[in-house]
Amino acid sequence: MSADKYLRVAVPSPLLSYFDYLPPRGFPISDIKPGCRLRVPFGRQELIGVVVETRATTDVPAGKLKAALACLDDAPLLSDELIYLARWAAGYYHTPPGLVFEALLPVRLRKGDAVDAAELERFVLTEAGTSSDPDELRRAPRQARLLALLQRAGTALTPAELAADGGAWRQGIAGLEDKGLVQREAYRPTLDPLPADTPPALGKAQADAVKQVLGHRESFQAWLLEGVTGSGKTEVYLNILDTVVNGDGKQALVLVPEIGLTPQLLERFRRRLQAPIVVSHSGLNDTERLAAWAAMASGEARVMIGTRSAVFAPLPEPGIIIIDEEHDASFKQQEGFRYSARDLAVVRAQRNSIPVLLGSATPSLESLANVEARRYRRLPLPERAGGASPPRIDLLDIRGQKLNGGLADTLVDTMKRHLADDGQVMLFLNRRGYAPRLVCDECGWLAECRRCDAQLTVHQAKNALQCHHCGAEAAVPIRCPDCSHEPLSRLGRGTERLAETLAELFPDEDIIRIDRDTTARKGELDRKLTAIRDGQHRILLGTQMLAKGHDFPNLTLVGILNADQGLFGLDFRSAERMAQLVVQVAGRAGRADRPGQVMVQTHHPDHPLLVQLVKHGYDAFAATALAERKAAMLPPCTAMALLRAEATSAGAPRAFLAAAKGILEDGNAGWALGPAPAPMERRAGRYRSQLLLQARQRAGLHEMLNKLAPLLDSLPEARKVRWSLDVDPADLF
Ligand code: ADP
Ligand code: ZN
Ligand code: ZN
Repeated sequence: MSADKYLRVAVPSPLLSYFDYLPPRGFPISDIKPGCRLRVPFGRQELIGVVVETRATTDVPAGKLKAALACLDDAPLLSDELIYLARWAAGYYHTPPGLVFEALLPVRLRKGDAVDAAELERFVLTEAGTSSDPDELRRAPRQARLLALLQRAGTALTPAELAADGGAWRQGIAGLEDKGLVQREAYRPTLDPLPADTPPALGKAQADAVKQVLGHRESFQAWLLEGVTGSGKTEVYLNILDTVVNGDGKQALVLVPEIGLTPQLLERFRRRLQAPIVVSHSGLNDTERLAAWAAMASGEARVMIGTRSAVFAPLPEPGIIIIDEEHDASFKQQEGFRYSARDLAVVRAQRNSIPVLLGSATPSLESLANVEARRYRRLPLPERAGGASPPRIDLLDIRGQKLNGGLADTLVDTMKRHLADDGQVMLFLNRRGYAPRLVCDECGWLAECRRCDAQLTVHQAKNALQCHHCGAEAAVPIRCPDCSHEPLSRLGRGTERLAETLAELFPDEDIIRIDRDTTARKGELDRKLTAIRDGQHRILLGTQMLAKGHDFPNLTLVGILNADQGLFGLDFRSAERMAQLVVQVAGRAGRADRPGQVMVQTHHPDHPLLVQLVKHGYDAFAATALAERKAAMLPPCTAMALLRAEATSAGAPRAFLAAAKGILEDGNAGWALGPAPAPMERRAGRYRSQLLLQARQRAGLHEMLNKLAPLLDSLPEARKVRWSLDVDPADLF
């Protein structure tokens, strides 16, 4: 049918183009379909690329055209739809196609493994194996080592994981199997259904949302399901999925923030859907990821619940895509291929003519603007499910007040009242560590990071000074390195210090702290959350880790200690993030029979955005914030991209960005601001600058980027810097 002779291939290189090849020698081109992997010569290397199309012509001169070395697949690994998505994304994000296709393929496929590499055995301890002492296997040191490894892991291990520990393992495992200490199990990625439960009867708004979405499920439509935490959004998802997956027999993707993929959520899905589900998140190893991917590709799995990169999962029988907490920043990839999973989900749904459902208590201003422009349709869930009333939010004016370890007296008194009524209390402080500053009162010395424009945070229990930007760590000095004065003062407060204060104020209470430092060990966060739900702790404190998606039925009071940070943050999205946080945290307080209360400590009780939020709610806040963005010509009212550059010298990034700006000089589709230093110019020893690119319309921005992106690498100044282009940046750092 075709006279195609050439293969256009996405090769994992940092270049912005596709590359043309001839088929492997002696291999008919008709056997190679778009979506198959090819091993190709590339410079001096051999790389694995993906065929995106076959072509009758090529621009590559005949003498330079090379033949691929091998085709790795009999049938395409990627569907036409995923190839379309990847090509679209490479164009939209002005990112090397090879990088995009890499993101689409599980690591093992990138490396050339076959799909059935996922059909692996795993090894797990028997009861006897769990309790036997590795030291008793002294005469078989390899067995002893493997036994100890499995005991430390506490879970089944794959051959790759056993091999990673140091080479040959087959014989050792066989020995342990003979002794009845280990058994093998087939690894299956799918989670089977759990006994079904009875769903609650939907409230009116819930039923209406379900009806609307299902009524339009034969075509594309983006829906914004807006409801406070506890309003029953998940229940709406489950009802819709029940029809789409169980009724229509289609597949679904459900994207959640990293922290939202809890065992409780999975359990709800498994009870309700009665269909094979797979998960995809950063906690899986490469084999488990491939297995989940393959189960979706084969159709064995009907639903994938996953984090950001699950937006690229195969979906041969597309039914719907759901994105929970669509405003969450974790849906934006912040390095390499800087995509937005939410935005790509919408593109995918459109291509597949299926609905996409974005849910949030606090929608992003982007999505609200899309509703305003009638691109998305809004489905409000105004009330909390089961009749719980919304929490009261009070602003606590702390101007001129003497605080007790960072806490206003009113807050402490209110905490006592809630505790006396047998409620749980949560305090929220978005800063970890003990104190953010260590200073000398004698000479003014301040502990600063040598590699960043930042101060070091004191971590008291670890006796460490830590840089939260580059990870540098040192012991806390006893006396001033400049003038030898001691002691040094610890200024400001983080969660570690707040825990100390609370222990003094509430000596009889069991206090639990949740932040990155106290949950570093695997499984620790889940253990702590379970303990909280079981009522083991009545005072909880933490960073934003506590803010999302956790259901604490006894929580009645939430205190927010530093909302002001958000009001005056450096980034244009700071206020939006602050408002989302306040509402999300507030959503933790009060359930069905227990009304909740929220107290926000602030030095700025008259700030218009804060007043809107507290008096009139998130939507009123968002309307005001959107108007501000419009006046300031900021997204979502304009289109934006950020060109970042960094180098070990301060001048090089600015020179590169100035040259980049020069390329644009004649165009007037948009404008370029800068170059300017990044808000924290020096970080981990590198100086960072940025050039902001903006246009009124998206098309104008892309006109600029189309002109700029292909030329950046050839600028002489580019050799001295590391640069990246971020379309729709999540922040300006
Ligand atoms: P969200 O996802 O908006 O936080 P959920 O769907 O998790 O809300 O619902 C919050 C709680 O209310 C859950 O315990 C859920 O089982 C319950 N719930 C949801 N819808 C209803 C309903 N129509 N009637 C009674 N309880 C409900
Ligand atoms: Zn000093
Ligand atoms: Zn640092």
